[in-house]
Amino acid sequence: MISEKYGKSLVMIITVCVLFIAGIITYITAKDMFKEVSVKNSKKYKVLIDSGHGGIDPGKVGVNGAYEKDINLSISLFLMDILKDKGCEVIMTRDTDTGLYSESDSNKKAADLKKRVELMNSENPDAIVSIHQNSFTQESSKGAQVFYQSSSAEGKKFADIMQQQLALKLDETNKRVAKPDSDYYILKNSTGVAIIVECGFLSNSEEAQLLVTKEYQEKVAGVVAEGIISYLETTGTQN
Ligand SMILES: [Zn+2]
Repeated sequence: MISEKYGKSLVMIITVCVLFIAGIITYITAKDMFKEVSVKNSKKYKVLIDSGHGGIDPGKVGVNGAYEKDINLSISLFLMDILKDKGCEVIMTRDTDTGLYSESDSNKKAADLKKRVELMNSENPDAIVSIHQNSFTQESSKGAQVFYQSSSAEGKKFADIMQQQLALKLDETNKRVAKPDSDYYILKNSTGVAIIVECGFLSNSEEAQLLVTKEYQEKVAGVVAEGIISYLETTGTQN
């Protein structure tokens, strides 16, 4: 038998312990909530989207007559909206059917590329994605392909993550791997972490037909956005 006095003390001790534990749990939960809120508020990634070609430069011309520049722009605009919705700051090299050259430039293509790189280097974004479409002499070639600067370890990491996302969410039969390149002007001359995403082959009739539809363009943009966010989350970079 426990004496009445001893019983009362026991109840008091248990009550104090329960209150103490409840206090600790409340403190930890509140601290974590605050931490989460503050991280979300301070973490704003800056992404530069480079929509390839434009203006007098149509890029590749599809088997269906589609211009690469138009598909690039449409995917880039969808991508811009998705990234902004996710809280990113987005910089576009172009958001209309124009090139980044002046009428007075004798070599408009060179002037256009130079301007794009100048913007990339002055904006200093956390990630740069250049949107393009591919073309090849063999009609059977298809599937999205990502390129990175061969000397950039971060570029390779970003490209591998993007290529994986594209295979996983866009076309499971796509067995391509991200490819290093040392000659692409944009990859070579931009100081930030940059990749080129060739979303599909305009020389393949099946893919060319998909790439001209708004539904597929938006789907591609969604997958590219996921690739960008997945990469950025590995960096912890903040602006
Ligand atoms: Zn292109």
